[in-house]
Amino acid sequence: MRIEFNGSRDYVTSEIKKLMTDVELIFSKNYIEIKNFDKGYVYNFLPKIENIRGVIRVLMKNDELLPLCYSFKATENINKNIPIIIAGPCVIYSWDDFLETAKELEQLNVYALRTPLFKPRSSPYGWDGYGKEGISRLKEIKKSIRTPFIMEIIDYRLIDSVSEVCDIIQIGARNMRNYALLKEAAKSNKAVLLKREPRSNFREFLYSAEYLLKYSCRNIILCERGDNLSDDVASIDTEMIKKIKKETDIPVIADVSHSAKRRDRVMSFVKKTIKYSDGIMIETSINPDASPIDTKQIVDIDEFKKILKIIR
Ligand code: PEP
Ligand code: MN
Repeated sequence: MRIEFNGSRDYVTSEIKKLMTDVELIFSKNYIEIKNFDKGYVYNFLPKIENIRGVIRVLMKNDELLPLCYSFKATENINKNIPIIIAGPCVIYSWDDFLETAKELEQLNVYALRTPLFKPRSSPYGWDGYGKEGISRLKEIKKSIRTPFIMEIIDYRLIDSVSEVCDIIQIGARNMRNYALLKEAAKSNKAVLLKREPRSNFREFLYSAEYLLKYSCRNIILCERGDNLSDDVASIDTEMIKKIKKETDIPVIADVSHSAKRRDRVMSFVKKTIKYSDGIMIETSINPDASPIDTKQIVDIDEFKKILKIIR
């Protein structure tokens, strides 16, 4: 932590010492470097340090702001030695289609199966899934499918019932900053997949991951999903994936469906991201055209098999 100042060094130092005890101060001409401070606690008085007369700004490093993300070790986590391939429909809209898709994907040994019952819709007029009523049917299906289930949760009151059938909780892009939801999802003892909110930056994304770790989630996957620049402009932030891989040990995958937005672009998005990421999320179904949501971006099983050849 570096405090840049002009004016009296003695005054700034004495004010810092009033706020922070037991820290090591290293002095330079225009700044004071502070070592050995309590990283969780510093937030409580950072605004006061910024307010000391003569302080120009306080600079903190990523590992000081995100201590749990930076100390995280994947050995206590998901096996990163196999590509994490999460596949399945955008939404469950027909139990027959879902079951058939699930069986195909199980044959192909995917890491987890998308089982969405709750869809966050941008428009209040959009159909938003079978909801809670679908859980009992999904439980029945789970008896015949070994592949872990992943489901997005949009409301923390659903965590208990969804946890009865799901192995991984998905926090969608819209809820990346829903801190109440992050806390409860973390406490559920389930693995959590966290998607990056469009246009949020590295620190904002990892602050949300820090929430999960602070509230005792030990099984975490991050997911980059592009920036929704407009309805049809495709984007995915490979630099984001690279930075997360370089700076932390948290697994990170690329959602090649919501980023590519069209099925004919999905393959190229796989090629562009798989060399950096730990895997992909991909909307796949036996009958893409029947999906009432995201129809044009879902790939069929044949295309999915071609994609798998590139990854494995
Ligand atoms: C999804 O993966 O089903 C989804 C809604 O994606 P996102 O949260 O990235 O928009
Ligand atoms: Mn979708």
